[in-house]
Amino acid sequence: MIWIFLGAPGAGKGTQAERLRGDFGFVQMSTGEMLREAMRAGTELGKTVQGYVTRGELVPDDLMAEILQQRLAQGNTGNGVILDGFPRTVRQAEMLEGILARHCWQLCGVVYLDVSEEIVLQRLGGRRNCPQCGANYHVVTMPPKVEGRCDRCGAELVVRPDDALEAIRKRLEVYRRQTEPLVNFYSQRGLLERIDAGGAVDEVYQAVKSVISRRWKRCLAGE
Ligand SMILES: [Zn+2]
Repeated sequence: MIWIFLGAPGAGKGTQAERLRGDFGFVQMSTGEMLREAMRAGTELGKTVQGYVTRGELVPDDLMAEILQQRLAQGNTGNGVILDGFPRTVRQAEMLEGILARHCWQLCGVVYLDVSEEIVLQRLGGRRNCPQCGANYHVVTMPPKVEGRCDRCGAELVVRPDDALEAIRKRLEVYRRQTEPLVNFYSQRGLLERIDAGGAVDEVYQAVKSVISRRWKRCLAGE
């Protein structure tokens, strides 16, 4: 049984998936982790991946799909699998449909964490990081005791390049262009569950949990 999480950067996909893992016994499969695993294993596929990574190129869709297929076929899938980072485009979603159909794996639902751009900018733009010890802060939700200083080591906090407003806007733009069309794609297939993810983590999780419980029962019943 497969689950997909969709949502803009900063929507809370990782946090929510992590909680589900604990409560439902799901396994999370992230594209980054799968690629690293393939390279470590040193298979033919892994060597091909290595080539792309060494050249600093994106791993092509069909290669990523092949890696995902192999990982799913290995087993160790707990009570279900949450896909993290795949599919990212409609083309990848179509490939995934093919893989699932071939193996009789079922896509139980697509959880869409919907947040406004304003909230994303607030969440990601407020992040601060200590370059000395790696501690993370947030100007609103987790401020340091002294503004701009690390509680642990006193170093001056910085904004990671990824969290700079310009970079966030760019990531949002890529997301809107490539990934947002998946909302329609899965909605047309009756798989989409839209959840307002602008609230507190616990609140959002309650909504996610109830959606998953309901869908899970249907999935087990083979509906
Ligand atoms: Zn520090």
